[in-house]
Amino acid sequence: MGTGHKDGSAGATRQLDAVVIGAGFAGLCALYKFRDVLGLEVQVYETGNGVGGTWYWNRYPGARCDSESFYYCFSFDDDLAQEWEWSGKYPEQPEIERYLNHVADRFDLRRDIQLATRVTHARFDDATNRWEVRTEHGECVSAQFLVTAVGCLSAANLPDIPGRDSFEGELCHTARWPSDGIDFTGKRVGLIGTGSTGIQAAPVIASEADHLTVFQRTPNFSVPARHAAFAPEDQAEIKKDYAEIFRLTRESPAGFPYFPIDRSTHDVSADEREEILEGLWEEGGFKFLWGGFNDLLLDPAANEIASEFVRNKIRETVKDPETAELLCPKCHPYGSKRPPIDTDYYETFNRDNVSLVDLKTTPIEEITPTGLRTSSAEYAFDVLVFATGFDAMTGSLLRIDIEGAGGVRLADSWAEGPRSFLGLQVAGFPNLFTITGPGSPSVLVNMPVAIEHHVDWIADCIQHMQREGKTRVETTASAQEAWVEHVAEVSTYSLLGRANSWYVGANIPGKPRVVAPYAGGQPLYRERCEAVVNSDYEGLEFGG
Ligand SMILES: Cc1cc2nc3c(=O)[nH]c(=O)nc-3n(C[C@H](O)[C@H](O)[C@H](O)COP(=O)(O)OP(=O)(O)OC[C@H]3O[C@@H](n4cnc5c(N)ncnc54)[C@H](O)[C@@H]3O)c2cc1C
Repeated sequence: MGTGHKDGSAGATRQLDAVVIGAGFAGLCALYKFRDVLGLEVQVYETGNGVGGTWYWNRYPGARCDSESFYYCFSFDDDLAQEWEWSGKYPEQPEIERYLNHVADRFDLRRDIQLATRVTHARFDDATNRWEVRTEHGECVSAQFLVTAVGCLSAANLPDIPGRDSFEGELCHTARWPSDGIDFTGKRVGLIGTGSTGIQAAPVIASEADHLTVFQRTPNFSVPARHAAFAPEDQAEIKKDYAEIFRLTRESPAGFPYFPIDRSTHDVSADEREEILEGLWEEGGFKFLWGGFNDLLLDPAANEIASEFVRNKIRETVKDPETAELLCPKCHPYGSKRPPIDTDYYETFNRDNVSLVDLKTTPIEEITPTGLRTSSAEYAFDVLVFATGFDAMTGSLLRIDIEGAGGVRLADSWAEGPRSFLGLQVAGFPNLFTITGPGSPSVLVNMPVAIEHHVDWIADCIQHMQREGKTRVETTASAQEAWVEHVAEVSTYSLLGRANSWYVGANIPGKPRVVAPYAGGQPLYRERCEAVVNSDYEGLEFGG
């Protein structure tokens, strides 16, 4: 960073109240709240050429949300909720992108968003209690607050497979999909990865391509989405109940407008259990995880019953028994990886133009100019699709060089895994707020709900500082330690740590294994956040 000005801003030309990094759900919400409600001067920087975050980048075929549309949206403005019409239960990417663009226009947000601008460095100046923020274009601004809205799932993970750059066909990560799409007609396509994204993309690619080969390292439990368009009366019903729907999303454990059934798997007979699971399977969606029993993520025996139910569905659906067995997950409990929901995923393997390759027994050795070679065969492709996910939870934060008080780098502070207070603040990094940061429920909650909660909490904290005439806020090391311990302890009660998932960083070589999201559920988490406010911000220190 440059040398200091007399105001400590090291060449910064603009003096702002806040810089927000990212213009997805979180960045848009933060800009609205900080600028239009608190009256702050805010600048948002966004790497992409458009707003929308996840829904700007993930243009792959089949991309859609798994939370139902009518609560996968903002609740902060009643008129917005009333005027927007969702076409159905699980809209595809273009519709959600349109919604977020509508939000940007409706609240006149664009004038404070600079697109195509990646933030590369941020440095806290102890003398001025301000952040100096630099972009890839060499701009430098000074802001009192730095608010990251960089996304839990936005740092694309393109595995470093030998020969990757030698491929002469088209190679694309699902989260960096070309805006004019890829025409699969007549093409031989290789799809690497069978997480939520691979599961959404495979059926659509298969319906267009000449041949699709799916490379699977870990099979996943997927439940049918059972997408349906909304009839006008569905829309009217939702709008009539919106206040109640949003209230429930704030109070329920996972940010859905429903509470889990308070019933153990062991409370009912085997026949009743089968009937309940069958009903949930028919209904489709995330409800399978918590709509029948309350112990699937807590009790391995209960989980195994639901897991075996899904395996049997796979065996019933997939005609070739060998392929069916390969698709049956046997090494992790259902729900310990992010549970996908799908439209015709397992059915896709009954098509003549689709084959499955098991990378556990025959790993990829290299990518070649014409395709890919595993330990047992060579494959020729015109297109290679990487559905290999993200360096989740911390990736986007650590790709920025963030330097806190006394020159401490975030990357060093988090060398052994992320540490935070409530997932909102990091000790040693004053005036930095991390929306849906690690240590908060984030990805275990319907995310717009988690995002709005964080934005409100941060706004309250800033208002508190304004009232008290403070310019610096920082969590204490002891509050952070206690929270990190609590997050770790809570995670031991759930089965989340039992899979090699992105929740624990296992998809990224060398990443410390830590259950990054807070698994204690939204009510407990919100209670803690509220208790901090009500105790005059115990755990935070104010100065300046
Ligand atoms: C395919 C897919 C489906 C999903 N479906 C659901 C779902 O059904 N329900 C659910 O709750 N969640 C879902 N999610 C999670 C989803 O990420 C969140 O719901 C939500 O979109 C997150 O919003 P955000 O603003 O926090 O982050 P993002 O939408 O990821 O936005 C972050 C933005 O920050 C920008 N950024 C990052 N670093 C920088 C930098 N250094 N400088 C400038 N800009 C930067 C990025 O370019 C990005 O645009 C899904 C995720 C994916 C990938």
